[in-house]
Amino acid sequence: MSDRQPTDTTTPAAHTPSEAAAGSPAASNAEVLATPGLSRRHFAALGGATALGALLPRSIVDRAAAAAGDRSGREAHPAVADAPEPLPAFRYPMESQTGRVYAVGSAKESTVKQMPVAEGLAGVSMRLQPGAIRELHWHALAAEWAFVVTGHCQTTTFDPEGRSEINNFGPGDVWYFPRGFAHSIQGSGPGECHFVLIFDNGHFSEYGTFSLTDWTSLTPTHVLAQNFGVAESVFAKVPKGELYIGPGRVPSADAVARPDGAAHDAPVTHKYRLLAQAPRESPGGTIRIVSSVEFPISGGMTGAYLTIAPGGLRTMHWHPNADEWQYYVTGQARLTVFGSSGRVRTEDVSAGDATYIPRGYGHHIENVGSEQCRIIAGFNSGFYQEIGLAAWMHNIPPALMTDNLGIPEETARRMEQPAVPIAARA
Ligand code: MN
Ligand code: MN
Repeated sequence: MSDRQPTDTTTPAAHTPSEAAAGSPAASNAEVLATPGLSRRHFAALGGATALGALLPRSIVDRAAAAAGDRSGREAHPAVADAPEPLPAFRYPMESQTGRVYAVGSAKESTVKQMPVAEGLAGVSMRLQPGAIRELHWHALAAEWAFVVTGHCQTTTFDPEGRSEINNFGPGDVWYFPRGFAHSIQGSGPGECHFVLIFDNGHFSEYGTFSLTDWTSLTPTHVLAQNFGVAESVFAKVPKGELYIGPGRVPSADAVARPDGAAHDAPVTHKYRLLAQAPRESPGGTIRIVSSVEFPISGGMTGAYLTIAPGGLRTMHWHPNADEWQYYVTGQARLTVFGSSGRVRTEDVSAGDATYIPRGYGHHIENVGSEQCRIIAGFNSGFYQEIGLAAWMHNIPPALMTDNLGIPEETARRMEQPAVPIAARA
C-alpha cells in the first residue's frame, strides 16, 4: 500500500483534532479505510516505519508496518492515553544459554528472569551422564513435571505420608512431583539422559531448590550426628556447599527404596508413559495430553506432546484455565499469540526454544520448516481445557457467523468439516 512508501516518512505530522475525531471509535472502520489520506497521515504522525522500528522488536516491525495500512486510525493515535502496552516476547532461546555446567551434567532454565511474561510457568533443560545425580532435593514454590527426550534415568521420591517410589524412565516418559515432595534424579545410561522439566510457577528457579548438601553443609556436625543417630565422625567428608549435580554409580534398574528391601508403597504412581498413549490423530499431526484424569497424581499440571507435519497448523485456540509453557524439540515453527486490543505477535521458533502463552490468549502454531515439529507443553492446571475457533464457529447459528465475520451465509452453512486440532498443509 502507499502507506508504506518512503515519502510518507517525510510527510509533516499534522495531527488535527478533526482527524482524531475521525479515528475515534465513533468513526467506523469502514469510514477510516475509505479515506486513504487519513491512514497515511496517521502513520506519518508516528514518524512512519522509522519510529515503529525504534519502538518495536525487529521481528514484528514488518508486521506492524503492514498492519498500519488498514488499522492506522487506531494504531497511530497519540491521543489515546490508555493504549495497551505492546505484547512482550513470548520466546526465549533456552538451549543457546550456557546455564550451569558440571563435569557430569548441565542445566539451563527459563524463568521470569529470562522471559518476563512467563509468570505462571518455568522450565529447565537438563542433561545427566550415566550415574550422574541430580541430588536429593525439594521445591518450596512449585510442582515438577518432566518429559524424557532421550536416554534413561531413575527417580526416587518420598511423600509427606512416609511413602516412597523409585521409577525408571525412558524417552517419552513423564514424571510429576507435587510441590514440596522429596526427590532425586539419576542418569541410568547408556549415554546421556536429556529431559525437560516444567514448573507451575514462573518465579521458580531450578537453581533455588532446597538441596540435601546445601542444608547439611550449613549444619554443625554434632546436630547431624544427633539428627541421624550416628557418630559425628561419619560426617567428616560431607560436601561443603551444594552439590546440585554430582557423580555417582549407575543405579540398578531394580533398586529398592529402603535397606530392608520393602516394596514401594506410594499409592499413586509418579510415572506416566506419555508416548505409549494412543495419540489423537489429526490431519496435520498428533496430540497426546496427560492431565490428572489420566495421571491422578498430576493434580496441579497437565502436559502435552504435539507433532506437526511440515505445512501443518496447530489451529487457533486458547486455554480458559491455564497458562502454557512450551519447549520445541525439533522443527521450525511460527508461533502467533493474540493479546486483544489490536495486538498480535509472531515469533519464529526453532529447536531448543522455550515459549509461553498466557491464560486466555489466542494462539496458533505453523510448521514452516521441512521436518516434523515436535513440541513438549505444560499447563498449570491438572484439568485440561481448550476452546478452538473453528469448533466454536460450528456451534453458532450460521446467520450470526455471517453477520459477525462478514462471510456469505451460504458458505457459513457449508462449513461442516469437523474442527481439527492440527490442520494439514493447505
Ligand atoms: Mn526437582
Ligand atoms: Mn495451546
